[in-house]
Amino acid sequence: MLENISDVYKRISHAAMRGGRSPEGVRLVAVSKTVQAEAVREAYEAGQRIFGESKVQEAQKKAEALNDLNIQWHMVGHLQRNKAKHAVGLFKLIHSVDSIALLEEIDKQAAKKGFVQSVLLQVKLADEDTKSGAGEKELDGLVQKAGGLKNIKVEGLMTVPPFFDEPERARPFFKRLKELNNAYGFPELSMGMTGDFEVAIEEGATLVRVGTAIFGERDYT
Ligand SMILES: *Cc1c(COP(=O)(O)O)cnc(C)c1O
Repeated sequence: MLENISDVYKRISHAAMRGGRSPEGVRLVAVSKTVQAEAVREAYEAGQRIFGESKVQEAQKKAEALNDLNIQWHMVGHLQRNKAKHAVGLFKLIHSVDSIALLEEIDKQAAKKGFVQSVLLQVKLADEDTKSGAGEKELDGLVQKAGGLKNIKVEGLMTVPPFFDEPERARPFFKRLKELNNAYGFPELSMGMTGDFEVAIEEGATLVRVGTAIFGERDYT
């Protein structure tokens, strides 16, 4: 575990240098979906602090089992509107907001709990039916809507490009997300997974979401 994490950090540093950036400008989100709480604890003991989950219920269980640790949980998977109530407050950052209805629900739940929920807007840059994310054309509407909600703060954009065997092919998607993010002046850019995080960092990622390179292949059974 320690070896995997330090290897990922080395790769982050090298990619940042290639991109002419400081490695401190990149935060590693260790994606622990399907991983047992004890493996998360091991990663924590190796120094990892930010963990990403894709299901609210699974995250709640792990957060409960690991409540003696100072973990920062992030939601990286698609969030259903009826789960927003439990997601708000549990997650420091929700990476996957992609509709006005979801913005409104998160705002409502955050208002009830009396705080401001940080979110990223998930953008779908390729025409893939199976992926979530708002289309580029919908993005302006989402940003404007969020601007009028008091209990939501948009920190930036997130994307999951199509899967390629060759990570270089994801580069144009990362470049595009960076351009959009710059246009809005948001500070955070969540892009890059095990297969392509180095290219994403070269293109400006501030948050990379890495699961397999840290915890090994996922077991969904
Ligand atoms: C599962 C997941 C990841 C991590 O993927 P790996 O290829 O295992 O690094 C990153 N982002 C999202 C949105 C995911 O669902």
